Amino acid sequence: MSATDPAAGGGRFELSGGTLALDFANSWGDRRRPESDRLGDYAALLAFACEAGLLDRRQAARLARRARGAPAEAARAYAAARGLRDALYRVFSAQARGRRVDSADIAQVNAALQEALPHLRVARRGGAYAWDWDDGGGEPLAAPLRPIARSAAELLTSGDLARVRECDGAACTWLFLDQSRNRSRRWCSMESCGNRAKARRHYHRSRAAGA
Ligand SMILES: [Zn+2]
Repeated sequence: MSATDPAAGGGRFELSGGTLALDFANSWGDRRRPESDRLGDYAALLAFACEAGLLDRRQAARLARRARGAPAEAARAYAAARGLRDALYRVFSAQARGRRVDSADIAQVNAALQEALPHLRVARRGGAYAWDWDDGGGEPLAAPLRPIARSAAELLTSGDLARVRECDGAACTWLFLDQSRNRSRRWCSMESCGNRAKARRHYHRSRAAGA
């Protein structure tokens, strides 16, 4: 695997939101810093889909090839991806902050859902049946958005909705599912935002104490 292979390990997306819809929203790490947006083009959408396990390498390569031959469709699929991603951020950020969710954003999720659901099916896998997406080889370039729309609908209608949080980090708009027992998690990850916040508090406390 080469470093530019979208299916290569150690990818560019951090999938720590706890569910697909939040991971996709988190492809822009801090809404105040455009440079933290990792969904830069259609190829980045395919890279996300590979890292999240929505596409295998063969499917991603096929869509990448088709996108090169149909730049206008690729541009539309990319615009749809950004539109859905940003609607998901607004919906779940508002939910996490106890603010009113804009019905236009829910309408956008529903539009993606309506496109997606006719392609849902059951398939036999390893002696059992599982949800799957039809894969006739002629999927539109926006097909990776289908499971994301379904994930968003499942989260919206599940008890986990009350567990959606937005990171308290000063330079972070990461969304995550708080699975802690007492629902007290405040940071996307203790290693990055949590430790930065603790170091800052320690610094301020030390200064207040005249240290
Ligand atoms: Zn954070």
